[in-house]
Amino acid sequence: MGAGAYTPDGPPGSLPGIAPVRRFAVIGHPVSHSRSPFIHEAFAAQFGHRLRYGRLHAAPGSFRDVLSAFRAGGGAGANVTQPFKVEAFEACDRKSARAQAAGAVNTLVFNGDTIEGDNTDGIGLVNDIEGRLGLKLAGLSVLVLGAGGACRGVLGPLREAGCARLVVANRSPARAADLKADVCGFEEVAARFCRDGPWDLVVNATSAGLAARDLPIDARVLAAAQLAYDLMYAAQPTPFLRQALEAGCRQASDGLGMLVGQAAEAYRIWHGVSPCTAPVYAGLRASLSREAQDDAAASSRP
Ligand code: NDP
Repeated sequence: MGAGAYTPDGPPGSLPGIAPVRRFAVIGHPVSHSRSPFIHEAFAAQFGHRLRYGRLHAAPGSFRDVLSAFRAGGGAGANVTQPFKVEAFEACDRKSARAQAAGAVNTLVFNGDTIEGDNTDGIGLVNDIEGRLGLKLAGLSVLVLGAGGACRGVLGPLREAGCARLVVANRSPARAADLKADVCGFEEVAARFCRDGPWDLVVNATSAGLAARDLPIDARVLAAAQLAYDLMYAAQPTPFLRQALEAGCRQASDGLGMLVGQAAEAYRIWHGVSPCTAPVYAGLRASLSREAQDDAAASSRP
């Protein structure tokens, strides 16, 4: 069986009175790290839904084949993670307004011969900020760092949440120019990081990562913000969150809640009900901490 091949356990709905097991998967490269199976199975437990949610690895160039094999094998829908969100967009017959605005898709619904695509990343971010963190976005000034796929996904929902000012700052001018040409809904794109504030919210949508040194953003900009939000998540505060807190920012959060939030919206699309995110967020946070402790213990063993 090749990578991504998929075999259902049996014909769906074969037992009278028992709902068939619906099958979902996340497709990515790499994908072994994905927390989506844990999240969707935890949501399913809240409703007593019967589902299976797996990980499907697709080598570069094989996304369409993996997707077709999963559909042919009885898959009901899929999430898509890096680096296939744009390929997923191109594979869809129908796209939601959110997907159109982002030019990328992370949630697929298989509806007969039709593939429908949506992008739930942005609403996941908005719901995490407004719900878990309690910061209402209406009227706020927001600075987004980075102009890649994640940035494209969050701009529309941030605008719809009523942000008064939405500005993107990116390291390289070329990508900033592409964003400006493709996506509307923000005030300005700047090919530099040091932006004059004040900003109520600073969102790090770069992939600078755990190994990154401080991003070139003025400490006064971070100090004045009500919230610094890093789309990346980790067991420990990320470099951007440490930078923001050291500068004096009042509140800082990583993107674990966004991850749970985007999954909750995908769950609503697939199953018609909205799961409770708080216990799943808490469970994931605890898992991350446990894994970090286990890693630290293993690396300290002689
Ligand atoms: P992309 O590769 O599409 O874009 C990366 C962006 O980061 C570019 O704008 C790039 O700038 C910038 N960048 C990378 N390194 C640096 C650096 N050292 N200094 C300054 N800028 C840098 O990535 P994505 O947009 O897909 O992902 C961004 C982040 O968001 C990732 O960490 C990803 O894991 C996270 N994410 C989290 C989600 C969640 O649910 N929590 C969902 C989706 C994404 P340039 O154009 O100059 O190269």
